[in-house]
Amino acid sequence: MKTKDQAIICNCCKKVVQKEGVVPDSEFLHVEKLWGYFSEKDGEWQEFDICESCYDKWVESFKVPIKTREATEFV
Ligand SMILES: [Zn+2]
Repeated sequence: MKTKDQAIICNCCKKVVQKEGVVPDSEFLHVEKLWGYFSEKDGEWQEFDICESCYDKWVESFKVPIKTREATEFV
């Protein structure tokens, strides 16, 4: 796996999810969103990273449970 040239920090808890120049040993959620015309953030580009434990807490708070399925093969 490719290493990143910049450390990635969980926006929620500040944990370093990926150290600079090191092969990643944990997973995290990366979100990028360009808000468009119909939002109040028209033209704003936002992104954040969430570590796995914060992700678990986050999705647990959802009113509608997320969809989960087993991957039959890893790409
Ligand atoms: Zn976190």
